[in-house]
This record gives sequence, structure tokens and C-alpha cells, in this order.
Amino acid sequence: MRLGIFGGTFDPIHYAHLLLAETFREELRLDEVRFVPAAVPPHKQDDEITEGDKRVEMLKLAVAGRPSFRVDTSELSRGGVSYTVESLRRLREELPQAEIFFVMGGDSLAEFLTWKEPGEILKLATPVVARRGSDAPLDWSHLSGVASAERLAQIQQSQFVTPLVEISSTDIRRRRAAGRSIRYRLPRAVEEYILAQRLYERPRSGDT
Ligand code: ATP
Repeated sequence: MRLGIFGGTFDPIHYAHLLLAETFREELRLDEVRFVPAAVPPHKQDDEITEGDKRVEMLKLAVAGRPSFRVDTSELSRGGVSYTVESLRRLREELPQAEIFFVMGGDSLAEFLTWKEPGEILKLATPVVARRGSDAPLDWSHLSGVASAERLAQIQQSQFVTPLVEISSTDIRRRRAAGRSIRYRLPRAVEEYILAQRLYERPRSGDT
């Protein structure tokens, strides 16, 4: 089984996430992509985040009808700061035979060495960096201290280019707080959920 992991805050999930996941699935010929919402993302520990069950509900609405997309709530059940290495260890135990890939943005590659146990992460799974066509070529020197030349060459073969879509969760939250339209930036069912639950009506301090 070829399994893809897509971690994020998903507050809320939007079409750029879904397009990234679909490109990831197709390019890497994955059997399944798991969306893994973080309980507390390491780089957003001081930020206000919507409750986990509401982020999960929006994810479920977004992937409904797409059997190869699944929502994995293990980081929320575990609670606390969500570290990739811990999630990958758990997945390895659950699926010892699977080949595991996890997708990250080109910006995350530059910060990879600040992640918890980067060398261990590269043993457990293959990072796949989604580069946007307009981005500068990726700088692989960020990984050279934690992986062998052979492993690096293997990792570099799994990269793909994702279409550039200028949608972000921050922008969607800001728009809601300003009473502006969020239509066509995320699936209609997710938009309806946001309106019904009255999410993002108040400006967030970190978003201003
Ligand atoms: P926020 O605006 O709240 O920081 P976000 O829209 O970046 O959120 P996250 O949940 O942090 O959403 O996203 C998870 C991952 O999805 C990011 O690390 C990034 O790699 C990817 N991603 C998000 N938006 C885009 C986009 N417009 N194009 C390509 N990748 C994206």
C-alpha cells in the first residue's frame, strides 16, 4: 500500500488543500491520502485555533464521496503538540508494510531541521515537497545533514509541481470577519457549515 499523509491545521480546509492532495495522490500513485489535523501545531502554539471536532467535521464534509481521501483524527485524540515523528511512528506500527509519503510545502523544507527528530522522520517516511511552478528550485542542502546521499537521491525523485492557487485559511477567516464572500474558495458544504456554526465571525488577533 502506498499511503500519503497530509498534515495541517485545516482551519478551515479549502480548495488549495484539496488540489494539493489530489495532485499528491495522482503524482505519487497513492492508494490513500490521509488528512491529519493537528491538535496543536508546533509552529502555532500561541495561536487561537478552532476546536478539533469542528475542523474534523469540515474535513469530513470536504472529502465526502472521495474514498481515497480519509480523515485521520489520531493527533487530536493524542492531544498536546502534534509532532510529525510521533504520528509516523504510530502509522508504522499500524501499517508495517505500507510505503509512507508525507507532503509538505517548499517553505517547510527550509525549516525541516528545526522539526523534532528530522533524521528519524526520514527513516520512517519519504517527504514529498510540493513546489509551485513559480517557486525557485528546491534547496536540498537543508536535508544533507540528516540523510545519506543515497536516501537524498531517492527523496528527490518523489517531488512534484502543484498548481498555484492563492487561497489560504487565514484569508478565508479574515474575509468572514469582514463580512465578505468566501464562496468558491472552499467546498459549498464547508461554507454552509461555517455559516451555520457562525465560525470566524470575530477577527483573530493573529490574523490582523
Ligand atoms: P493558515 O493560513 O491558517 O496558516 P493554510 O491555508 O496555510 O493556513 P494549513 O492548514 O496550515 O493551511 O495548511 C497545511 C499545508 O497545506 C501547508 O503547510 C501548505 O503546505 C499547504 N497549503 C496551504 N495552502 C496552500 C496553497 N494555497 N497552495 C499550496 N499549498 C498550500
